[in-house]
Amino acid sequence: MILDDNPPQTQSKFFNLDEIAQGVYVAIAIKEKGVIGNAGIIDLGNRTLVFDTFETPIISEDLRIASEKKTSQSAEFVINSHSHPDHWFGNQVFSNTAVFISSQDAFSSMTPYIEEVREDKENPAELEEEVRSLLNQFDTESDEIKRQQLAVSIARWQLYLNSLSDLELKLPDQTFKGNLKIHGNLRSVEIFDSGHVHTPGDVCLGLPREKILFIGDIGFFNEQPYMEDSNPSNWKAFLNELRNSEYNFFVPGHGPIGTKENLRQMVEYIELLETLVSDAVNQGKHMKSILEQDLPEPFATWTLGSSRLEVNCKIMFDQYLESK
Ligand SMILES: [Zn+2]
Repeated sequence: MILDDNPPQTQSKFFNLDEIAQGVYVAIAIKEKGVIGNAGIIDLGNRTLVFDTFETPIISEDLRIASEKKTSQSAEFVINSHSHPDHWFGNQVFSNTAVFISSQDAFSSMTPYIEEVREDKENPAELEEEVRSLLNQFDTESDEIKRQQLAVSIARWQLYLNSLSDLELKLPDQTFKGNLKIHGNLRSVEIFDSGHVHTPGDVCLGLPREKILFIGDIGFFNEQPYMEDSNPSNWKAFLNELRNSEYNFFVPGHGPIGTKENLRQMVEYIELLETLVSDAVNQGKHMKSILEQDLPEPFATWTLGSSRLEVNCKIMFDQYLESK
């Protein structure tokens, strides 16, 4: 294993590329540049596989160059972990050489974005106005953490706007249910549909020999997860399953590569919200009372995505009501 403390090699201004095992690379997003989701490159020997493609072709082009430089061949497979744009809107740069694969349920959630992007292309003024409004908020915001979050959002939307005229969404060519193995002459990988966890049909990719699992947005390490499209109880159960699995290293969709300790913290976060929501309901308090209190450590320092707390509480509230 090459998992150690060596500083990652910077191959792109958008991500840090780090070789975590021989021929296995993670591209960790540089948030200050407006890039939020991670990606991966896996050398199967006689073929190359890419896991997720970032949010725009501008970013993904750097991933394509890195994959060709590191594996000396074009990507033959692109796996899309789920439907959120920051993981597959960069697909098109691999179109000439790759077959695109996702789960059936992820595919179904991806198709409505074709219409959304068409509308954005027709009316970019709305997005431009949104960016201007964020810039105004940035100028007047005094809270440093909120300013950092606004800066990430502004950079992200600007990248998207700059890509919009060239953006051609590329949907997966093949879908699967259950699991699938892809074989190369150096290694094989297992991909499987995890069910409705972060989104319907989240795909994980495992390298059993190296004990590495790419988990897409089932993993948000050191930041608050985005739970809007999730099933929180499935999410908690699946994280606990992974904690009992043979895998030791987890590549998240957001944040640095982690271990079972990071999975444990995520379970703890979901359990904390479950408790806060059920207490608020039982005490007849408004949901806002949760947002007014400071979260305990380590969550107090999960400042990235802290604006997600409100969305997450709402999801947990709906789940709580459904369980009654
Ligand atoms: Zn996501």
